[in-house]
Amino acid sequence: MTDQVTLYAFNCGWFQCNPGYFVEGDEGPSMRSPVPSYLITHPKGRALFDTGMGVRFRREMDNKLVEGELGLEWFEGMDIATRLKAIDVDPASIDWIVNSHLHIDHCGGNAHLPNATVIIQALEIEAARTSEQRYLYTPEDYDTGQPVKAIAGEHDLFGDGTVRIVPTYGHSPGHQSMIVKLAGGEVLLAGDCCYTERNLDVMVLPKATTDMELGMETYRRLDALRKSGTRILFGHDGKQWKQVTEGVPFVL
Ligand SMILES: [Zn+2]
Repeated sequence: MTDQVTLYAFNCGWFQCNPGYFVEGDEGPSMRSPVPSYLITHPKGRALFDTGMGVRFRREMDNKLVEGELGLEWFEGMDIATRLKAIDVDPASIDWIVNSHLHIDHCGGNAHLPNATVIIQALEIEAARTSEQRYLYTPEDYDTGQPVKAIAGEHDLFGDGTVRIVPTYGHSPGHQSMIVKLAGGEVLLAGDCCYTERNLDVMVLPKATTDMELGMETYRRLDALRKSGTRILFGHDGKQWKQVTEGVPFVL
């Protein structure tokens, strides 16, 4: 079955911050990091893990973020619908949206996928609805009318163990990641449970973590998975992203 599962990576926006945002104390020039979205195709359906940023973050090339500024930017053509069409996948053919969590840069493309069911941890739905941080949890992004399947804990998406949703709490109350079994091995799509490879190397959580204890427990699990051979694709890792080729089947 694993040889019939395919993973594609796309960048649907840019996130810019100083190195200290990821690992406190780190210094250096601003880092430009991807806002990834992943397509997983399986004989039983098509799923997206995260959908990137919404078009309302549009900027023109002459209005780019300047060095040192913290923020999000999105340029024409970076939406997930355009990315999918570029590889001949109709956005209306997507069956499942799995959002790692409901922050603006992870569900901004949900609106482009009219026929999908959104799978999210019940804890995260609750967090989004009750949050006072409207700039982080914006209904315009996460509440786009598709059916929602609320889950609690692990979920085997196609029932054969090839695409598993696993809870990775800490960054947000109901954060989840995805483990995809490809012919060459397992890949964990981290989302924001771990921003960069360096975070895991030094086992330091960023300040922007809702629950430090749960976040560290998640890091320990990721570290164990990494040691056992699972390849981790981190949430906003510009350095790692340089090795990722967008829009082609991901090969381990
Ligand atoms: Zn987040």
